Amino acid sequence: MPWKGIKDPYKIWLSEIILQQTRVEQGLDYYEKFIFFFPSVHDLATADEGVIFKLWEGLGYYNRCKNLITTAKYISEKLNGIFPNTYQDIITLKGVGPYTAAAIASFAYNLPFAVVDGNVFRVLARLFAIETPIDSTIGKHEFNELAQQVLDKNEPALYNQAIMDFGATVCKPVNPECGTCTLQQHCRAYQVGVVNKLPVKEKTLLKRKRWLYYFILQHQDTILVSKRTSKDIWENLYEYYLIESDAEILWNDTSIQQHLHHQLGIKNAKVTSVSLMVKQHLTHQLIQGQFIQATLSSIPHNLQQGQWHPINQLDKLPFPQFINQYKLIVG
Ligand code: SF4
Repeated sequence: MPWKGIKDPYKIWLSEIILQQTRVEQGLDYYEKFIFFFPSVHDLATADEGVIFKLWEGLGYYNRCKNLITTAKYISEKLNGIFPNTYQDIITLKGVGPYTAAAIASFAYNLPFAVVDGNVFRVLARLFAIETPIDSTIGKHEFNELAQQVLDKNEPALYNQAIMDFGATVCKPVNPECGTCTLQQHCRAYQVGVVNKLPVKEKTLLKRKRWLYYFILQHQDTILVSKRTSKDIWENLYEYYLIESDAEILWNDTSIQQHLHHQLGIKNAKVTSVSLMVKQHLTHQLIQGQFIQATLSSIPHNLQQGQWHPINQLDKLPFPQFINQYKLIVG
């Protein structure tokens, strides 16, 4: 990984924010793009926010991007571009929690803070045969304390990287390499035969279900878009005209025409496409929905103030991945 072994706190911070809730293989491209376009925190702080969101497109959890911008501006403007160098100061940065603060403090400054990611939880749970659920409050506390106790205080950066790599390559979630593992002699879970039962997770989160129906309204060479501004998923990204529901809606030509007429004053729209149901799993939500394309012969009065964006410029706007997975049919 390009960020491995580096000491630059800006690059470490960037990689850690990108990798929160993102798989390494997916995050890698984004990390390289960000470093290419914004080689320093000043470059990121002074860049156009729309451009940053566009680069972030597809990574999801856009709050991370918002916090990234806020923190870059703070470091650039208030700290003259100098990254804080104590754990206590690092953790006050927006978007930085205990895990990210420990990663920056140990990897950039070799400070003795244990990094506790999913790999570390698993390795510790097995080595010490701990059955406390890793996603419970008490479990998080217990594992963090233990991680801090067993940390090599002389080589925290090396140790943190080693235990994470060990979890990713040897003590894997499925089919760990116990037969050749160098820690086998010390591993309590191996000795008592509970390797595959650990770590324990308290519960699978109940997901909120949302149905999003996007109406892609086209008039001549433009399409109606709007920016999401409320405190919700995908804040600051763009979308088409949306009908949201807590339950599934069955759309057919009649109900589409009725909705367009009664809600938007649109008559005689030509419905050109109704997509199949698409899905996206977020951490706490299951998003499902459809895309309904329609061509209008004129723009009704109540939509004249809307943002009608040229179709050939749509790719300049940041859209959530859920919308990008639908390929627009341009007629
Ligand atoms: Fe992990 Fe197996 Fe090694 Fe124990 S013996 S640390 S469970 S790989």
